[in-house]
Amino acid sequence: MSNESVIMVLSAPSGTGKTSICRPLLREFPALRFSVSFTTRPPRRGEADGRDYRFVTPEAFREKIQAGDFVEWTENYGHLYGTSRSGIEAIRDGGGDILLDVEPRGARALKEIYPQGVFVFVLPPDLAELQRRLWKRGDGDEETRRRRYRKARDEIREVFWYDYIVVNDRLEQAIERVRAIYLAEKCRRERQMGVVAPFLAD
Ligand code: ADP
Ligand code: 5GP
Repeated sequence: MSNESVIMVLSAPSGTGKTSICRPLLREFPALRFSVSFTTRPPRRGEADGRDYRFVTPEAFREKIQAGDFVEWTENYGHLYGTSRSGIEAIRDGGGDILLDVEPRGARALKEIYPQGVFVFVLPPDLAELQRRLWKRGDGDEETRRRRYRKARDEIREVFWYDYIVVNDRLEQAIERVRAIYLAEKCRRERQMGVVAPFLAD
């Protein structure tokens, strides 16, 4: 297992734009791999099984809980979401960096397990814009959107223990900032010891 892997966790209230930020970064950096979570929620338009989530039944999800297959799992808006242990281990064993999209409770659990992780909170420019984006995306019924919106404030209270905050006002700028965080983290001394070692060998 590589200790040089970057484990980058993105959290944000639903509708802020995490997916819109992650997709171009994953295309740009083949070494950065998305940890595909399991969920019992139905796919949204444009989502692909195995790329965005692994969409499973509640029964299959519960079996995976029993089998200890999740690093962490939680219930959001009536659906179950879980981070796959074998998914993360496979990426790390291959020396890749990992990008996770997880809400703050799950992120907190991940911080316990991976204290070297990089925790990024993405904020919308303001609550009115968050509401517009949630409604623009148009998935789920009115009540689901309302619940997601109400939860935003509770989630934003968790911002204080994150390492970085990125406001997603203009999408291109937000992508650039998360990109900058990733590249800076890759250059951290402790992740570059493999590069330094040959200079010091005699
Ligand atoms: P999340 O993954 O955080 O739930 P999405 O990436 O699905 O959010 O974005 C929610 C909606 O907001 C989508 O319709 C997306 O196109 C739109 N969106 C994302 N970022 C911006 C932005 N900077 N400006 C305007 N609309 C945006
Ligand atoms: P959505 O349904 O909008 O894709 O996701 C809803 C929320 O679930 C988001 O805040 C997202 O970050 C979170 N989420 C997605 N996958 C996981 C996971 O594996 N574990 C946890 N704890 N949250 C997740």
